[in-house]
Amino acid sequence: MDNIDENVVRDAAMPTTPRVGVYICRCGGNISDVVDTEHVAEICRLIPGVAVSKVHTFMCSDPGQQTISDDIKQEKLDRVVVASCSPFLHELTFRGAVVRSKMNPYLYEQVNIREQCSWAHKHDPRGATAKAIQLISAAVGKVSRATPLAKIRLPNHRRALVVGGGPAGMKVAADLAACGISVVLVEQSDRLGGKLHTLNRLFPTGQAAIQLAAKMESQVLADPKIEILLNSKVTKVSGFIGNFEVGIHGNFGPSGKTTEIHTTVGVIVMATGFKPYVPREGEFNYKKHPTVLTTVDFNSLLATQNTEGRTLRYEGRSIGSIAFIHCVGSRQVDGVHTPGPDGRLNTYCSRVCCTTVLNQAMQVRQRFPETRVYDLHQDIRTYGRGHEEYYTDASRAGVVFFRYHGDEPPTVTNANGPTSPLRINVKDYLSWGEELELEVDMVVLAVGMTAGPCETLVDQLKLPRGEDGFLQEIHPKLRPVEISVNGVLLAGTSQAPMNIQETLAAAGAAAVKARAMFTTEEVELNPYVAQVDTHLCEGSGVCLTQCEYDGALAMVETQENEHSVRKAQVNPGLCVGCGACVAVCPTQAINVSGWRIDQYDAMVDGLVRDVEPAMV
Ligand SMILES: Cc1cc2nc3c(=O)[nH]c(=O)nc-3n(C[C@H](O)[C@H](O)[C@H](O)COP(=O)(O)OP(=O)(O)OC[C@H]3O[C@@H](n4cnc5c(N)ncnc54)[C@H](O)[C@@H]3O)c2cc1C
Repeated sequence: MDNIDENVVRDAAMPTTPRVGVYICRCGGNISDVVDTEHVAEICRLIPGVAVSKVHTFMCSDPGQQTISDDIKQEKLDRVVVASCSPFLHELTFRGAVVRSKMNPYLYEQVNIREQCSWAHKHDPRGATAKAIQLISAAVGKVSRATPLAKIRLPNHRRALVVGGGPAGMKVAADLAACGISVVLVEQSDRLGGKLHTLNRLFPTGQAAIQLAAKMESQVLADPKIEILLNSKVTKVSGFIGNFEVGIHGNFGPSGKTTEIHTTVGVIVMATGFKPYVPREGEFNYKKHPTVLTTVDFNSLLATQNTEGRTLRYEGRSIGSIAFIHCVGSRQVDGVHTPGPDGRLNTYCSRVCCTTVLNQAMQVRQRFPETRVYDLHQDIRTYGRGHEEYYTDASRAGVVFFRYHGDEPPTVTNANGPTSPLRINVKDYLSWGEELELEVDMVVLAVGMTAGPCETLVDQLKLPRGEDGFLQEIHPKLRPVEISVNGVLLAGTSQAPMNIQETLAAAGAAAVKARAMFTTEEVELNPYVAQVDTHLCEGSGVCLTQCEYDGALAMVETQENEHSVRKAQVNPGLCVGCGACVAVCPTQAINVSGWRIDQYDAMVDGLVRDVEPAMV
C-alpha cells in the first residue's frame, strides 16, 4: 500500500464527469441503529457524479472491501467515498482496497458518520441521518475534484544522531550500531553514563550502578560505528526526516580547542534524560539544616561509607535515626505546594522514588543495624517485578511506616540549631489520623524526576512537551516512542519518569523504530504539502511571513522572459500542509495538494446541496 505504483498516479487524469462509488457502513448496528443507512444510500444516488451507492454491515471486512474492488472494475469507478467510522481507524484499510484495484489512493475520501453522526446524535435519528447525507455530499464534492497524488520521496541519510549519553542514549546507539547504522552520540558532560554516576546499589538487582555504566560504556566505545562526542552540544538543527542538518559544538580532536562540526543524519533520538527535583531552600528544612539530604545526596553518602559500623556516620556525627519522606517534588497539590520557577506544579508520580527509598532504607538496616529508619509516605508504589519485595523486606527489617495525606505533608522543624535533632510532625493515617512527633538525626527527601532541559533542540525542532514538561509522545500506547516531528524519537526519561529497566526497554523500542526508518533508500512522505503555481506567483513573499516552519518556504530567483523574478518555493520535506500560506497569498498562487481551495468550495457546495427532498 505504501509503495504506490507511479502508473496509478499517471493514468488517473481528472475526469470531466467523475464516477464516484459511495459505500455506507452499518458498523454492525453502531451506525445503522441510529442512522437510516438504506435511506442514506438511496439519497446519495441522487448526488451528481455518484454512480454507485451501497450499504454493507462491515465495510472494513474482506467482503466489504471486495465489494469496493469489484465495483471499481465493473462499474468503472474513478473515485470512492466510504462513510463509516473515523479515518484514524480505517483510512489505510480502504486506501489499500482502492490501490489493489489500481486506483490512486488519494482519489478516496472517508466520512466519519459513526462518531460524528450516530454516536453524537443518538437521540436524534432523523437529524443524524440528514447530517450523514450532508457530510457524504461534501465528500463527493471534494473527491470529484481530487487529482491523483503520489507520496513524496526524498533521500534518506543512513546515520542517526543520539543526544544524551546516559543509559538510554548508550542503549539506542549500541542497538543501532548492531544493525549496521552509523551513530553520532553527543553527550554534554565529560563522560558517558548519565545519572548512573550518581547512583549506588541499583534496585531491583543490587548491581553497582558504576558497573552497569562501565559495561554499557565499553560496548559503545568498542563499536566503530559509534562516534562519541563528549563535552558537546547540538547548537543547530534543521531539516526533516532522512535529512537533518546538525551543528555540534564541542571539544574535538587533539587541538583541545572548542569548535563546531556539521553532519547530516536521517533520524534524531532524544535521550536527554531528567533532572532530579531540587527542593527549595527551607522546604522540609533543606539547606537550612546540614542533615536534611535528598535521596541523590544519600546515594553518594552510602557509596562513600567504606567503614561498616553499628550506626551510620555523617560529617563526624553518629546518625542514630533517619526519616525518609516520600513524594518531594512529585504528586504536588495545588494550594499546598509552591509551584516551581516555571509556575508549574509537579502533580505526577515520579515512579522510582518509592523503590529508591526502600532500597536505601534496606541498605541502612543491613549495613548499620543500630540506625533506626522511619518511612513517611502517601502510598507505597513499588510496582514492577521484584520491587514489592523491598517493601516486605523493609517491614521485616524493622523500618517503621507512617502514612500521610497529600494535602497534609509532614513538617520538619529545628528550633535549636544545626547540631540538634530534627523534629517531624505528621498526621498518620495508619493510626487513623493520629498527630505524631518524631525526633531524628537525619531526614532524607525522596526527590522526584523533572523534565531535563534541551531547549535548543526543543525550540529548533518545535518538539512538544506535555503538561508535566517532559517530551510528549504521539500516543502513549500506539506510538509510544515517536514525537509529532517526523524522524525524531524519544528514549528513556526525556519522555517521562522511568527506572533503568523501563528506560532501556524504551530505548530499545526507539532503536527499532529508527532502524525501520532506514529500511528504504528514500523517505516517503504524505503528499499533502503546499504547492506553488509559478504562473500565478508574483513573489510578494507574504506567504513567508505566515509560515511557522523554518525552511518550508523560500523565495528563489528565477529567469522569466529574460528577467530575474522572485517566486515562492516549497520544501516538501519541511512543509506540514497547514495552509497558513494559502490563506494570505494575494494571487491565490499556493494550494495544499489534496486540500485545494476549489475542493473546499466543492465541499461547501456539497454541504448546502438540497439532496434530501423526501425528509422533512
Ligand atoms: C534518586 C534516584 C535513584 C534511582 N535509583 C534507581 C535504581 O536503583 N534503579 C533503577 O532502575 N533506576 C533508578 N533511578 C532511575 C534512573 O536514574 C533513570 O532510570 C536513568 O538514569 C534514566 O536514564 P536516561 O538515559 O534516560 O537519563 P539520564 O541518566 O539522565 O542521562 C541523560 C544524559 O543526557 C545528557 N544530556 C542531557 N541533555 C543533553 C544535551 N542537550 N546534549 C547532550 N547531552 C545531554 C546528560 O548529561 C546525561 O548524561 C533512580 C533515580 C533517582 C532520581
